[in-house]
Amino acid sequence: MKSKFDFIVIGGGSGGVATARRAAQYGVKVLLIEEGRLGGTCVNVGCVPKKIMWHAAQIKHAFGDAPGYGFEAAAPAHDWGKLVARREAYIQRLNGIYANNLASAGVTVVAGQASMLDGKRVNVNGQEYNAEHILIATGGHPSWPEIPGAALGTDSDGFFALEACPKNVAIVGSGYIAVELAGVLQTLGANVTLLLRKTHVVKQFDAMLGEKLLDHLYESGVNVVTETEVASLCQADAGVHVEYDTGRSAETFDTLIWAIGRNSNIHGLNLETAGIDVDAKGNIQTDKYQNTNVPGIYAVGDVTGRLELTPVAIAAGRRLADRLFNSQTERHLDYENVPTVVFTHPPIGTVGLSEADARKQFGEAEVKVYTSHFNALYYGVLEHKSPTDMKLVCVGKQEKVVGVHVIGEGADEMLQGFAVAVRMGATKADFDDTVAIHPTSAEELVTMK
Ligand code: FAD
Ligand code: NDP
Repeated sequence: MKSKFDFIVIGGGSGGVATARRAAQYGVKVLLIEEGRLGGTCVNVGCVPKKIMWHAAQIKHAFGDAPGYGFEAAAPAHDWGKLVARREAYIQRLNGIYANNLASAGVTVVAGQASMLDGKRVNVNGQEYNAEHILIATGGHPSWPEIPGAALGTDSDGFFALEACPKNVAIVGSGYIAVELAGVLQTLGANVTLLLRKTHVVKQFDAMLGEKLLDHLYESGVNVVTETEVASLCQADAGVHVEYDTGRSAETFDTLIWAIGRNSNIHGLNLETAGIDVDAKGNIQTDKYQNTNVPGIYAVGDVTGRLELTPVAIAAGRRLADRLFNSQTERHLDYENVPTVVFTHPPIGTVGLSEADARKQFGEAEVKVYTSHFNALYYGVLEHKSPTDMKLVCVGKQEKVVGVHVIGEGADEMLQGFAVAVRMGATKADFDDTVAIHPTSAEELVTMK
């Protein structure tokens, strides 16, 4: 039996759901195929549960600061199981909301794994569906190294399945996930060892952010080990025994988490049959309109390997639907100046070019940098301090602001508005002409000398 639609969307995560709903708004007959839980990575094992864990850690930090504000009670014990149960109940509600939103938009949802039969036909559970337009939005999964015993570790999906806070945990990696999970686990009571194969963290950003983040990680008690790679894992009585490729002595942890990047979900899709090109890493190749090399087949989100962020998948997908089904022929996502936050303690907020990239792109003489280093007013009455660091990267005579980089309390909520200013081409003079909001940390960004 065959079923005909106008648009088939494979993957019910951030990108797929947003695109399907936008297309349905234009009166298009849409089929969405999802093999797992609606909402994809972000809702089920990504942004949402991660942010809840981050909030829990922020609350723990506030308990630590409370005596400085005159609260004498000791910090209460933390119930990991209760937090996880409440978090998962919230996610289940979100799964239901996603299903309702798709149903009320008129999108048909089929559960199962999709595989391509050719450029116009898709198979799910033995049933054939066809459409003129097919979107692949299948996301990604955590990468694992090919070393002996690697399977004795776990990954970010496994972190969300933990029933208790591990006592002694190793996290391998230097990117978003490694530093975010290190912060949450250390704060909620684990002894965290962060294993870096080089000397830096979050290398994709302005170097100041990684350097300051390392200071904060050391300060919080995380055991940061540099220039060390894991050579093998083997089972220990209570956990996992780790051997290194350097002279470092082997150690035992109750849990080891791989946080070394992600790979695209292309398994089972049968891309070869449809003739769809992927790069050496398995990411589906697209042009700026999200077209693959096969006419009528598109890809958005993590499966394309470009800026693996939820709002990017959503924005690329909605623009694609606008272009295909609402005659907005030039509509596409501009991947420049995408703001992003790393939910560490304190968080990082960043948009635009790093100082190094600006110097490379515009030349040394064209770049002027403003920095600020201060302790927020919040720390005025506290014994311990946690400095905030900011950098504005400006270019040309006009001092156009091409980069805003912040690490400090509130950076997560500070950057969205500044990203608008950067996109609009604001100059340092525009920043300086904006009256400050006092007393905040954000006001530093409009008062830098
Ligand atoms: P996904 O959301 O992964 O959705 C893909 C869907 O396709 C999945 O549901 C999958 O089951 C389904 N699928 C795969 N293959 C098939 C098939 N053959 N047939 C049918 N269905 C299939 N981003 C942020 O912006 N902010 C954050 O704070 C943030 N935190 C994160 C924390 C973690 C731990 C992780 C892992 C990621 C985080 N991200 C964050 C990244 C964000 O989750 C992803 O960029 C986003 O989910 C990508 O959306 P997507 O639609 O491309 O893929
Ligand atoms: P990232 O790409 O951020 O970082 C992975 C890093 O791990 C690499 O850059 C590499 O850094 C290091 N690495 C790679 N292989 C090894 C190895 N064998 N041993 C040790 N280290 C290794 O990947 P993540 O998994 O952290 O996150 C995936 C993506 O998910 C992110 O890029 C981001 O787009 C998204 N995400 C977004 C979040 C947010 O918006 N807040 C939060 C979480 C994820 P090096 O070369 O320095 O060693």
